[in-house]
Parts: sequence; structure tokens; C-alpha cells
Amino acid sequence: MTADQLRSLIRDVPDFPKEGILFRDVTPLLLDPGALAAAVDLVAAPYRDAGIDRVLGIESRGFILGAPVAMALGAGFGLVRKAGKLPYESHSVSYELEYGTDTVELHVDTVEAGQRVLVVDDLIATGGTAGASVELARKAGGDVVGCAFLIELTFLEGRKCLDVPCHVVLDY
Ligand code: AMP
Repeated sequence: MTADQLRSLIRDVPDFPKEGILFRDVTPLLLDPGALAAAVDLVAAPYRDAGIDRVLGIESRGFILGAPVAMALGAGFGLVRKAGKLPYESHSVSYELEYGTDTVELHVDTVEAGQRVLVVDDLIATGGTAGASVELARKAGGDVVGCAFLIELTFLEGRKCLDVPCHVVLDY
């Protein structure tokens, strides 16, 4: 399955979750088993020989893609969650939103010092969440090899928030 076939399975939802936002909805793609397998394969592809120890998936659609990417790479999977959701002792990083701040957390035992980490999410918009996730991995002593996304909203220039290489399958 080609990247353009995957693109045709992403639904555009105008004005969600608020007016002026065009939401790129991946749920039709997830319903198609061939497309789901291809999406995982294309997100993981550049890292097959990269010696990744941990894939960190960002809540919540990053969990859906991140776990099978971790399996494809022979890596462990860890969860980056919004503040207050993780049960165990956690590292915490806050980042700026248009109005206010948000916080993401990572269990302290998810990444060990020196481990090679890949951060995965379905989509990079402003890059704030991914940037904070890279910082979380580093707080734990991880060596962040890169960030991988199914979709990039290029006009928002979210890559500028990342000081690691960024791999994207579909750009808008
Ligand atoms: P950001 O921190 O701005 O890069 O936001 C990234 C997070 O918000 C990702 O977890 C995305 O799933 C979600 N997100 C932001 N904008 C959109 C959009 N237009 N369509 C779908 N998801 C989005």
C-alpha cells in the first residue's frame, strides 16, 4: 500500500475540536487492516537497524501506532501521558500552548540511562508535545534517536521544536 492510498483513508473533519481546526482523523485508516499494517511499517522503516531500545508513544493515538512500531523494531514500549494519569513515580515536563501550558509525564523506570529512544505519535502539529516528550526521555537519561509521525502539518513548522531528526510518512 502506498502513502497516497493511506492518505485517502484519513478523514478531514472541519472545526473539530474547535472552530478553525481541520482535524485529520486516522480512525478510517485504523479500520483497514492492510492500511494499519502499512502505516506501522512505514513509520518504523528508517529505524530497523537503528538499535532502538524504547519506543515512546504519546497519548493517545501515539499508543496505537507506537506499540506495533516497538514490536517491529524489537524494542520495549513506553507511555507518555498527560499529567496525573500515570500511577507510578514519574518525570514531568510542561510546555507552552497558545493559551496556558500542558504537562506530559513518563514513569521513571520506562527509560534507562543510555538507552536509544524513538518518540512516536500519529501527528505533529505545533511540535510542543513531541518536544516535551524528547525532554522527558532525556530527563530519564535516554539518548533520543528521533521522532516519527504518520502525519505532519508542515505549515505549523513543528519540527522547529525538535532538535532530533524527524521522520514523517504523510505531509499536509
Ligand atoms: P502539537 O503538540 O501541537 O504538535 O499537537 C500534537 C498532538 O495533537 C498530537 O497528539 C495530535 O494527535 C493532536 N493534533 C493536533 N492537531 C491535530 C489535527 N489538526 N488533527 C488531528 N490531531 C491533531
